[in-house]
Amino acid sequence: MKKQETEKDTEQSDQICWDCKYQQIGGNTFLGICMWFSHHGKADKEIPPSQVDIGCKYFSRKK
Ligand code: SF4
Repeated sequence: MKKQETEKDTEQSDQICWDCKYQQIGGNTFLGICMWFSHHGKADKEIPPSQVDIGCKYFSRKK
């Protein structure tokens, strides 16, 4: 019998906000602020629950 399910079954990427250098936890936010915006001349935004485990195309891994 062949095992069909693998860890890659989920489509979730590993480029999530939690591993991103632009995420800043703290203040009065629950999931943190995305600092990408202030690095690009815009106002930072709170990271919404729908995004925090998905990340975005601007992901940059924390060192
Ligand atoms: S929204 Fe994108 S840039 Fe901002 S912390 Fe998440 S992955 Fe990083």
